[in-house]
Amino acid sequence: KNEISGRTRLSGLYALPARHSFSPLMHTTAFQTTGVDAVYLSFDVQPERLEQSIQAIRDLEMLGINLSMPHKMEATKYVDELSQAARLIGAINTIVNQNGKLVGHITDGIGCMESLKQNGIEIIGKRMTILGAGGAATAIITQAAIDGVKAIDVFNRKDAFYEKIEPKLAMIAKETHCQIHLHDLADEKQLSSSLAVSDLLVNATTIGMAPETEQSPLPKASLLRHDLPVFDVIYHPSETKLLKDAKEAGAKAINGLDMLLYQGAAAFKLWTGKEMPVEKIQPLLEETIKK
Ligand code: NDP
Repeated sequence: KNEISGRTRLSGLYALPARHSFSPLMHTTAFQTTGVDAVYLSFDVQPERLEQSIQAIRDLEMLGINLSMPHKMEATKYVDELSQAARLIGAINTIVNQNGKLVGHITDGIGCMESLKQNGIEIIGKRMTILGAGGAATAIITQAAIDGVKAIDVFNRKDAFYEKIEPKLAMIAKETHCQIHLHDLADEKQLSSSLAVSDLLVNATTIGMAPETEQSPLPKASLLRHDLPVFDVIYHPSETKLLKDAKEAGAKAINGLDMLLYQGAAAFKLWTGKEMPVEKIQPLLEETIKK
């Protein structure tokens, strides 16, 4: 174990609530394994104190910080620079302190793309369908578009949010040249034709999450097929109804645990320049989530 010294740097999580997070476990293990002299703590930050708390990253010469709800969007106002994905999405989950200059990044989409790669799914230059247009979905869509996915069909419930999301998707499509189309999740015919030409299905809705584990975001399992891998952002339960159905259809089925792991690994790399020892952290994460 590392000893705390006069040189130990601080990092951590700003959220509300922050205390339930798996990030302290991930980053503390990573610091100890790689010999980085730093600690990672969780901070419950009230929204009205966010600006001052971000200023403290400079004042205390912190390594950087992760951000979670409800601060991901508001925090973009208080950093000096944004990554391309963070600018397109309008949200950040990581701040890197580069000698007093604060740079905002969003690593959720990077985590998803890396998880796909590690699980043997090649989607660059191909087509995907994604269910949901919330925070996780937008991060995935943006990173996929930046990384060179050719076309993305997005399905969401057709309410006010649908109107709000359309301009954002248009902006992402324009800047990345990815063909992005938004559809009504209730339009079964469109869903069926989108899936027929897709090389990947992503669920980024909350449907299937504990305790509603018997629900699937798809109207019928017969839309699945053996050559359509399915990625679900949900990791609790570890196998959603959608993933069960995908497996039954003979397809690859991947849950959101590796996305969580690799979004952390991306933040770790940004702060330290080092690779996170994911093989050490993955089993710890699995064990902790099961509890
Ligand atoms: P948001 O609230 O931002 O988005 C939720 C999405 O689910 C929206 O598209 C919403 O549609 C849709 N939705 C919710 N309920 C229904 C329903 N009954 N019918 C149809 N659509 C529905 O949440 P997040 O994007 O932050 O989180 C989504 C999921 O991703 C969660 O399960 C979360 O735990 C997981 N997640 C996983 C991560 C990982 O690393 N693996 C990282 C971040 C999140 P509408 O707009 O119509 O409400």
